[in-house]
Amino acid sequence: MSHERNVVPRRAKRAVIIGAGFGGISLGIRLQSLGFDTLIVERLDGPGGRGYQKKVNGYTFDMGPTVITAPHFIEELFALEHRQDNLQAPDFPAEVLSAPRITAGQSGGPRTREYVQLVPILPFYRIIFDDGTFFDYDGDPTNTRRQIAELAPQDLAGYERFHKDAQAIFERGFLELGYTYFGDIPTMLRVVPDLMRLDAVRTLFSFTSKYFQSEKMRQVFSFETLLIGGNPLSVPAIYAMIHFVEKTWGVHYAVGGTGALVQALVRKFEELGGQIRYGAGVQDIIVTDDWGKAPRLTRPRVARGVLLESGERIPADLVVSNGDWANTYLKRVPAGARRVNSDLRVKAARQSMSLLVIYFGFKDDGQPLNLKHHNILLGPRYEALLREIFGEKVLGTDFSQYLHVPTLTDPALAPPGHHAAYTLIPVPHNGSGLDWKIEGPKLVERVYDYLEQRNIIPNLRARLTHSEFITPDYFAGTLDSYLGNAFGPEPVLVQSAFFRPHNRSEDVKNLYLVGAGAQPGGGTPSVMMSAKMTARLIAEDFGLD
Ligand SMILES: Cc1cc2nc3c(=O)[nH]c(=O)nc-3n(C[C@H](O)[C@H](O)[C@H](O)COP(=O)(O)OP(=O)(O)OC[C@H]3O[C@@H](n4cnc5c(N)ncnc54)[C@H](O)[C@@H]3O)c2cc1C
Repeated sequence: MSHERNVVPRRAKRAVIIGAGFGGISLGIRLQSLGFDTLIVERLDGPGGRGYQKKVNGYTFDMGPTVITAPHFIEELFALEHRQDNLQAPDFPAEVLSAPRITAGQSGGPRTREYVQLVPILPFYRIIFDDGTFFDYDGDPTNTRRQIAELAPQDLAGYERFHKDAQAIFERGFLELGYTYFGDIPTMLRVVPDLMRLDAVRTLFSFTSKYFQSEKMRQVFSFETLLIGGNPLSVPAIYAMIHFVEKTWGVHYAVGGTGALVQALVRKFEELGGQIRYGAGVQDIIVTDDWGKAPRLTRPRVARGVLLESGERIPADLVVSNGDWANTYLKRVPAGARRVNSDLRVKAARQSMSLLVIYFGFKDDGQPLNLKHHNILLGPRYEALLREIFGEKVLGTDFSQYLHVPTLTDPALAPPGHHAAYTLIPVPHNGSGLDWKIEGPKLVERVYDYLEQRNIIPNLRARLTHSEFITPDYFAGTLDSYLGNAFGPEPVLVQSAFFRPHNRSEDVKNLYLVGAGAQPGGGTPSVMMSAKMTARLIAEDFGLD
């Protein structure tokens, strides 16, 4: 096919993207490179969404994502230029599939390095159990076997079988099917036999329990979905692929924090001619009848632009929402225009959990911290705690947390002689009815008690120089997420693939979704994949093959 046939019509089509999260910016880069004239409107005063970066009292805090995986997705964005053929390139080129395991030095591809410095993080995580023992997980089978032999020797053989079966899930579910857009039931049905054969529809925790007898190993090989809002007790075992995504391409850090990566992506978007407006909240997506010849009642509804909270109207040929799926439909699209995404369906969907996150700075006391860059601190209960958070929606007597200490890699994030850290505690979303003005400060104190009493960070309170926290109310208010969910619709089987919200609206023509609420799901790699899926749908709808 010649390139001439692919050229966008003379007047570039105007795309408006609501939200400058990873999904919105990634899609903006793709649409600009496809020849659209793209404007991102963001309610906050800066980019990133959940990946917003806060600078306060000499500290730099990434508010959200910190574990960067699949760096070739990032490289792909930085390598895009003004051209029409970027959607035809293979999703996983040969050099990506044959990449050696990254163990030291710089990571990320050559175009990424022009914008931001990525470095590998090893181990990926230190997983600290309630009895004080720990497991440094780095994806290296030799190191993994050695630690299993120390902590749970009975699980050595199970690990070998788990490794083989999880690899099969990764190869089919991620490498081959990862970019499949499930827009109709036949596409969904075609993959069901594979999922059954790989035993990938049972829950992740029951899948790992097949291979591991010890509670510790069951936790080590199932906790990762919590970082994208999935309950290991209910996500399908297809998510065992995360283990392999990390193992295959490593875990990385953007020097300067994830915020530096966000700024780099914004720069790329602007270099391609895209525009971003901050402080520009969208009140309504403007939807009208299609002005065609069809009888009035059967005319499709069409997105024509957005109405900002300031009263300004921005016309567009297509609108994409990077905001929360539920609130996009409940608040921004008129109810009369919605059949599939009705109030009933949206409100009945299961939302992911929420979080309490404490951002804190503390003095270095000269003693080395017995911590790594990423630490998972598991409480005394695993399954019961997960049931309380996701099911009963109550605050337990104990908690687990993810403690992030980026200054162990990048001291520039804190004033000299200090550390910047955050700790994230999974909590129920606001369907719980908990009053976070009361419960928030109490939970923060319990977390500080835990970190001090367990000597995780000795004498922490006396060393604290900065402390602030967010609760589900931040997700509900500042980020406008339904029920204050932190990760979008919960990734359970009945909300995955075809059953997950569609990137091309079923209700309104020229309206699309991108980001954690759409297919394939949450987490920054998936969100970047969703941008590619949505770009392909837009290219198809606007005649770019
Ligand atoms: C604390 C935390 C830690 C995490 N850690 C990791 C991690 O380590 N690794 C990982 O891969 N993932 C992680 N995740 C998940 C990951 O951050 C998200 O899946 C991803 O960033 C979501 O990106 P997004 O583009 O879908 O949406 P968002 O980041 O939510 O962006 C949506 C944007 O839309 C804007 N918006 C919404 N409504 C409107 C409106 N009406 N008008 C204008 N603008 C609007 C919002 O302000 C926001 O900026 C984490 C999430 C959290 C909360």
